[in-house]
Amino acid sequence: MKYFSTRGGDERLSFEETVLTGLAPNGGLYIPEHIPSLPQNWKSDWKDYSFVDLSVAVLSLYISPDEVSQAELRQLVEKSYKTFRHPDVTPLKKLDDKTFVLELFHGPTFAFKDVALQLLGNLFEFFLLRRNAGKAEGEEPERLTVVGATSGDTGSAAIYGLRNKANISIFILHPKGRVSPIQEAQMTTVTDANVHNVAVKGTFDDCQDILKSLFADREFNATHRLAAVNSINWARIVAQTVYYFLSYFHLQSQLPAGTSVDDIEIQYVVPTGNFGDILAGYYAKRMGLPMSKLVVATNENDILARFWKSGKYEKVDSTVTGDDGSSGPTAPVDGSSDGKQGTASSGVRETLSPAMDVMVSSNFERLLWYLAFENASGTQPEKEAEAGKFLDGWMSGMKANGRVELPIAVLESARKDFLAERISDEETLATIQAYFGGNVPYIADPHTAVALAASRIVAKDNSSNTHQIVLSTAHPAKFSEAVSRALEGYQQFNFDRDVLPEEFRGLLEKEKRVIDVERPDVELVKAVIERVVGHQAGKIKAAGSI
Ligand SMILES: *Cc1c(COP(=O)(O)O)cnc(C)c1O
Repeated sequence: MKYFSTRGGDERLSFEETVLTGLAPNGGLYIPEHIPSLPQNWKSDWKDYSFVDLSVAVLSLYISPDEVSQAELRQLVEKSYKTFRHPDVTPLKKLDDKTFVLELFHGPTFAFKDVALQLLGNLFEFFLLRRNAGKAEGEEPERLTVVGATSGDTGSAAIYGLRNKANISIFILHPKGRVSPIQEAQMTTVTDANVHNVAVKGTFDDCQDILKSLFADREFNATHRLAAVNSINWARIVAQTVYYFLSYFHLQSQLPAGTSVDDIEIQYVVPTGNFGDILAGYYAKRMGLPMSKLVVATNENDILARFWKSGKYEKVDSTVTGDDGSSGPTAPVDGSSDGKQGTASSGVRETLSPAMDVMVSSNFERLLWYLAFENASGTQPEKEAEAGKFLDGWMSGMKANGRVELPIAVLESARKDFLAERISDEETLATIQAYFGGNVPYIADPHTAVALAASRIVAKDNSSNTHQIVLSTAHPAKFSEAVSRALEGYQQFNFDRDVLPEEFRGLLEKEKRVIDVERPDVELVKAVIERVVGHQAGKIKAAGSI
C-alpha cells in the first residue's frame, strides 16, 4: 500500500515514509492509494477478536507485510495497548436500549488520543531502530525531535506516547501557570530522560507562534529533524478505525437474544474537533463496516456543523456577522498536539470542551478529497488528479480568504454519510446533568456530553430500529471544572468518590520536571532544545556495547 497527497502530485510514499513525514511538502495530507475492502468472512472470522487481534487485522490492510510483518505488527500493537486499564481497551457501555457509549479514555492519560499516540510512539521507535540497525559504527544515528504546544488538554497524551522511546526527544511547550493543575501535573510528573516540558511565560498563542517559527526555520528543522505528532498523522487515523470494528461486535453481544446487528441501523455520534476521530469512522464505513450515518458533534466552534447546513466552509459565519472571513493568521497545521489552529483574536471560542476548540478541522481535508473524487469524471487516475487540483484550489482559497464555497454536489455527497449538530456550553452542562440523573447514571466529560446532546437531537428523526453508539473521548476527572460546575448542586454527587480515579490521587505532590523559559522568545526555546538534544546525541556504538 502506498500513500499520496490530497493536493496532488506524483509522490508515492510507503507507510513508513508517510508516518515519519506527517504533512506532505505541498501542504496536503497523505491518504492511501485505495481504501481496502474487508476479507470475505470478516464477520465470522473476527467476531471474537480482542482489540489487539482486530488492530492487527485492520492495520495490516493498510501496511504492506514487507514493510512491517504480521509478527512485528502484533508486537507493536500488544506493547501499545498493554498500557490501557480496561481488558477491552475501548469498552462499550449500554445506557439504554438504543444508546451505547464507546469509552475511549482508558489509556494512560484518560483521553481518547492515547489510542492513537500509544501506537504512533511505538511505530516511530520501531522505524528509527530499524534504520539505525543498518548503520556502521561511528555513524550518526537517525533521531527525531518531536515538538508540540498544548493549552493543557492533549499534551500529556503525546508525552505518554513517546516517553522512554529510543532516539526520540519530545518537547512540549505550555503556557506557564495557565494550564489546569491536574493537566500540568499529568505532563510534568513524567520524568523520563527524553521528555521535556517547557513552561513558557506567556499565552498558549505565544507557544503556538514559537512552534510555527521552529518549523519554519529550515536549518534548525533539518539539524534536529523536527517532527510533529498532531492529528493529521496517518498512523493516528488508521489506529482509530479499530474501535469502530470492535464496537460493532460488542454491540452484537449486548443486543437482546434473537436480535442481530445486521437487522438494525447503527449510527455513530462523535465529538469532533480536528475531524480525526470521525474520519476513522468514515474509513471503517468505506471499508464495509455496516453503519447508517456518522454524526459530527461540534461545540460552539461550529465550522463543520455550518458546512453541513450550507455547503459553505468558512471560519467565520458570514450569514451572521457579514465578516469577510479573513480573520487573521492561523498557526501551521503541523506541530501542535492540540487542535487549536487559530488565536483567540482570530475567532476560536473558548468552550467547556477545549479539545474541540478549533478554527478549522485539519483532517476535514481528507474527507473533502473523497467528495471531490466522487464528483470528478474520467478514468481513475484522471479523477484522482482532478480531486488533487480541486483540493489545492479549495485549500488555497481557505488560506487566503478564510472561506470557500463548495459545489452543491459535494455537499450532497457529504450528506449521504454524515449528519452534523452544534452544541452550546449551556446544552453541554444540561446534558451532563441529565445523564447523571438518568436511569443508568452516567458521568460524562464535557466532550462526551457534546456528543450525547447531539445524539438526542438527531434521534428525533431516526428510524425505530436505529441504535446509537456515542464516542466518549475523555474521563470526567480530566475536565473536572466543567463536570463539577454541572453537578455541584446535586447532593448525591461527590467528585472525589464518584469521579476521581486512583491514578490522579497524589499526582499534584509527585516529583516534577520542567524547564522554565522566561520570555515567549523562539531563540530561548531553540537554545533549550540545542542544549538538551546536543547532550543526548551520540554515535552508533559497536555491536554488543551498550
Ligand atoms: C482531540 C479530542 C477530541 C476531538 O477529536 P478530533 O479527532 O480532533 O475530532 C474530542 N475530545 C477529546 C477529549 C479530545 O482530546
